[in-house]
Amino acid sequence: MMAGNISSEKIDLLVYGPNKPIVDNGFSDQFVLHPAETRADLDRLSPAVAAKIRGAAVTYSTARCDAGVMELFPKLEIVSSFGVGYDHVDAKYASEHKIVVTNTPDVLTEEVADIALGLLIATLREFIKADRYLRSGLWTTQQFPLSVGSLRDRKVGMVGMGRIGQAIGRRLEASKVPVVYHSRNPAPGVSYQHYPDLIEMAKAVDTLVVIVPGGPSTAKMVNADVMKALGPRGVIINVARGSVIDEVAMIAALKSGAILAAGLDVFANEPAVPDELKAMQNVVLLPHIGSASVVTRNAMDQMVVDNLKTWFAGKPPLTPIAETPVTSR
Ligand code: NDP
Repeated sequence: MMAGNISSEKIDLLVYGPNKPIVDNGFSDQFVLHPAETRADLDRLSPAVAAKIRGAAVTYSTARCDAGVMELFPKLEIVSSFGVGYDHVDAKYASEHKIVVTNTPDVLTEEVADIALGLLIATLREFIKADRYLRSGLWTTQQFPLSVGSLRDRKVGMVGMGRIGQAIGRRLEASKVPVVYHSRNPAPGVSYQHYPDLIEMAKAVDTLVVIVPGGPSTAKMVNADVMKALGPRGVIINVARGSVIDEVAMIAALKSGAILAAGLDVFANEPAVPDELKAMQNVVLLPHIGSASVVTRNAMDQMVVDNLKTWFAGKPPLTPIAETPVTSR
């Protein structure tokens, strides 16, 4: 990796994506910030500015940082990306071109785990339907029907057992719900039963909580065969990425009764959500809010800033991704 500049020379940074006050106000006057909210804004940067850019803050996953973007900046040393998932950054290109990529793990783990458990309970116990029922005035004439779903008689198969998966597992354990998991390798220090085969796990449980990274290695891994194995009591909670589930197959399975219900925070083509899903009563749909509280988003924004500042102070960045490791500088 190139050595960071700790001289008095100004450091030019690209701020790519939505405007974030913590990022905009987070740098001393040693840095010059060049905002570009959209891909079209990037193309409007002058070649002279592009040639000076040494670091980039990618402030949301809608700002795709692919090879075509990174090659606009020949002096780019570091991409500091917002979010723990970085499927919107071409990590392979970055690694090949000695560009460090950082993400924002840990600070969002518990927040996302809260959403996963909340979404699971809301789906099983039909919170949204019950809220609509009360507001419509129906409660004054009759009791809300008993929910078919319950957390009490369930066994959860986690798809992914990393930082967030383990935080969800802790919540389920506290709720006295048995947990098993699927991932490519057993997770160190985790005592739940590991299934190397997703279909075998789906046969053994009735609930999937999906929390793996997006990208090619997980694309549509929860497919029609997995849903068939899960069976008619099956419930799917997806707080990972929309790409991980075969959305068309899931809609068909929900319609036919091949599975019972789903709680979804993420979708294949966000922010577009299929009308068929919106029309269903047995789904709870959230607009990708896993980490979306003020306190957690502020911590994530701060980490975007801190990774860049640390790098340009000549130190290893705080949270490089596995594909672009930096152990010393
Ligand atoms: P970690 O890297 O800590 O954990 C990832 C887990 O997924 C590991 O258990 C890993 O195990 C497993 N995994 C990775 N690839 C595969 C694969 N191909 N097949 C099976 N298992 C796989 O990540 P986090 O827990 O911190 O975050 C997980 C993801 O959650 C993020 O990448 C992001 O996409 C999503 N997320 C969503 C949010 C939201 O707002 N809804 C907010 C935050 C995160 P192994 O490598 O052994 O396979």
